[in-house]
Amino acid sequence: MHKKALRRAALLMLTMLLFILVSCGGGGGGGSDSGFTQSDYEFLYTYNASSLDGHTIRWANVPIGVSAGAFADARTAFNRWNSASGGAVSFNFAGSNIPVFWSSSTAWCGLTTMNWSSAGRITSAKISIARNQTGCLGGAADTLAHEAGHAIGFLGHDAIGLMNPKGGEPISDQEGRFMKLLYSLAPGTNISGELGKSRSSSGTYDKSGGKIHTLTISRSK
Ligand SMILES: [Zn+2]
Repeated sequence: MHKKALRRAALLMLTMLLFILVSCGGGGGGGSDSGFTQSDYEFLYTYNASSLDGHTIRWANVPIGVSAGAFADARTAFNRWNSASGGAVSFNFAGSNIPVFWSSSTAWCGLTTMNWSSAGRITSAKISIARNQTGCLGGAADTLAHEAGHAIGFLGHDAIGLMNPKGGEPISDQEGRFMKLLYSLAPGTNISGELGKSRSSSGTYDKSGGKIHTLTISRSK
């Protein structure tokens, strides 16, 4: 009995210590001790920070609220990013940051419209999923997971993995590390110094966040 109580106390202390360590790690800028490589930063730059002059663009708070009551597989679809990012990004399915709707469009499989501020904070994102998923690899489940990737900060399409323009593939290791890195840095973190060479970018970072940027991106048929 006594031993058990001791063990429990030790476990509690260890948990608290871990929590403190995690708290210190989150939002930090340096990548040298976190296992991320220069190519991880370059990938993050290409599909995120290049849209804001080298500063990261993400939801400020996790878990991110999702309102997708009409979608039976929404939890599974969104939580693929939770697994792939090692838990760095998480979702609250009673929330409302990202509403998901069905659409009668036949032009695309899925479509995401999102806004972010010039301080690097995503302020809104809305996902539409076509009822007709003919020609959409992986069907509605994959389309939703793909659009979820956009809605949380993947601002483009890569060659392989879930975020390729046609979808139908699992989240690649690189895409998983992308989300892990993005959500381990504070919104608006300047990652330019982590890149091998300077690259072209768009947008102007502004700490006050006074300007709102908009992106509409679709997964075409
Ligand atoms: Zn897409």
